[in-house]
Amino acid sequence: MQDIRAGEVRVDLPPAADAALRFIGVIHTPWRDRKDCPRQGKVDGPECRVEVFEPWGPALMGLEGFETVELLYWLHQSRRDLVVQNPGHTKDTRGTFALRSPVRPNPIGTALVRLERIEGTVLVVRGLDCLDGTPLVDIKPDRCAYTPLAPPKG
Ligand code: SAM
Repeated sequence: MQDIRAGEVRVDLPPAADAALRFIGVIHTPWRDRKDCPRQGKVDGPECRVEVFEPWGPALMGLEGFETVELLYWLHQSRRDLVVQNPGHTKDTRGTFALRSPVRPNPIGTALVRLERIEGTVLVVRGLDCLDGTPLVDIKPDRCAYTPLAPPKG
């Protein structure tokens, strides 16, 4: 578990008694250490491979029409018990819900990524910021105002 920095506040976690997640895949990135990950992914970042497990392959049908896809992932190496954090190692502490820090009660990360291509049940994307081996929680097409149908590409 990570150290607590100056000004940070931890709490005793209440017992978990809620929804059980089903991880639907795993994300492969070039980063093995948190300190090497970008703070936020960039669409000109390296290609990453989002492996979708069976039986969820058919759930990708139609996704190929989208250029931008939202990924939700479980920042599995995060501690979950800080309510006040000091992300910059300075005196500038902030509440967890005022930060996009990976340290949160339910460490869900989100990223809007560029979908380069789909190879079987693997999405090849750019724009991620997570460790290699990060569990995948969900995939959603980019938001659109009235219809969830993808516009034709090109
Ligand atoms: N883009 C996501 C968001 O905004 O919800 C995550 C942003 S968070 C600031 C990204 C940082 O989380 C990375 O720079 C890295 O330090 C850390 N991180 C990445 N993968 C992680 C993992 N699997 N477990 C814990 N921390 C992780």
